[in-house]
Amino acid sequence: MPGAPQMNAELTAAERDRILAKSAIFAPPPAVLPDGRRELVGLTREELAAEMVAIGEKPFRAKQLWHWIYHQGATDFSVMSSIAKPMQAKLAERFVVGRPEATAVQTSSDGTRKFLFRYRDGQQVETVYIPEFERGSVCISTQVGCTLSCKFCHTGTQKLTRNLGAAEIVGQFMAARDSYGEWPTPDGEAPRLLSNIVVMGMGEPLYNYEATAKALRIAMDGEGIGLSRRRITLSTSGVVPMMDRCGQELGVNLAVSLHAVTDELRNEIVPLNRKYPIAELLAACRRYPGATNARRITFEYVMLDGINDSPAEARELVRLLYGLPAKVNLIPFNPWPGSPYKTSTGAAVNAFADIVSEAGYSAPVRRPRGRDIQAACGQLRTENERVRRVPAEES
Ligand code: SAH
Ligand code: SF4
Repeated sequence: MPGAPQMNAELTAAERDRILAKSAIFAPPPAVLPDGRRELVGLTREELAAEMVAIGEKPFRAKQLWHWIYHQGATDFSVMSSIAKPMQAKLAERFVVGRPEATAVQTSSDGTRKFLFRYRDGQQVETVYIPEFERGSVCISTQVGCTLSCKFCHTGTQKLTRNLGAAEIVGQFMAARDSYGEWPTPDGEAPRLLSNIVVMGMGEPLYNYEATAKALRIAMDGEGIGLSRRRITLSTSGVVPMMDRCGQELGVNLAVSLHAVTDELRNEIVPLNRKYPIAELLAACRRYPGATNARRITFEYVMLDGINDSPAEARELVRLLYGLPAKVNLIPFNPWPGSPYKTSTGAAVNAFADIVSEAGYSAPVRRPRGRDIQAACGQLRTENERVRRVPAEES
């Protein structure tokens, strides 16, 4: 892209290494129960095969297990009828197929369902199922808390406790499926209820890239959950050095939390902008592999009364997005206890949407879902538990 600022390639690589090293510091405890049984959810096919070889079994067992775990949704080895009874018993002695524990489930008057999931070390996250016409999205979390303190976001007021592991990330989707009884998935057909994943819950997924990527690869595997990459959308606040990798390796739909059209305002409301300013962020969007007119990048724009919602800002947004395969998602600000902003008026939202759509971009206003149960965008937050590294303390 002529004139678009590019981060120096070496600097980008160094920055990427730094981000990955930092995410390792916040890694979850090992997925092992106090009795020594190990979690099978969250392993790649290769890792699963290696586990089988380690207990003296043939690697093809991994294929059988994969089908039972991710296609049938089995959590109990005794229902795995293609595996002989003695082998079932041997597996049950050594392994588990777990789920996060749903400690609270609330269903909104609009059908949105919020789960509070608790992991073995007591840490909790929220996951939201959002039904839509003839389909539905599960909004999953990737971190307990967040290191970025976007001013309008409730999660941003909760310090990062730790990252989630791959099992904990894909486990949210699997437990949501349990809740709707949507196993096994219909062969060759899209699932009716839980058909999409949006990585828009608690945390910044590109600050926990490895585990998020592993979880999404599991979800995309055709012999299991089988969601195509077109049914998965990852939202980032703009971790520029990780965006290329996400596009090349996962190819999922990208959503970018833009929220402001000047660096001055974005520095204030999305502090990560001080590191990766708007021009760099948009350059990374222009390079994003797979971004085409058929698969546009979504720019999320939270509408804050009197802060970022003027017609002039709408026109500047259109100018910034020029030439990008983009759509704009206008999100009326969802308030939370103590939040410093007000939701834009309906008239301001409509005027903004009109300017953007007259310029040729689709600009739907996101209907707030599940506000009555604090399940709408940016309302998620859990109480931090003291980090306990010893899983033996927990059941
Ligand atoms: N950390 C990632 C993904 C999680 S946030 C990110 O920031 O993109 C998912 C979306 O909800 C983001 O676009 C975020 O900016 C938006 N959001 C956060 N707080 C909000 C609020 N109070 N009202 C409306 N949208 C909010
Ligand atoms: Fe973190 Fe996203 Fe919330 Fe910002 S908007 S604090 S990046 S979860």
